[in-house]
Amino acid sequence: MKKDVLNGVLCEVNNCVYWEKGNRCSADEILVVSHKGKKAFNVEETDCQTFELEG
Ligand code: SF4
Repeated sequence: MKKDVLNGVLCEVNNCVYWEKGNRCSADEILVVSHKGKKAFNVEETDCQTFELEG
């Protein structure tokens, strides 16, 4: 059965349980956080908090 994926979300973290072919994400929703409080100043300071290691 094909899983629903989030529209408009592309992700290359292919060892996450929610990752699907085509760099799609099958989580119900994702939370992206900033490492330094509310403000991030570049992409390295942001992360998907919904990530779960597969396996
Ligand atoms: S939950 Fe986050 S890390 Fe996992 S596939 Fe979705 S966007 Fe990527």
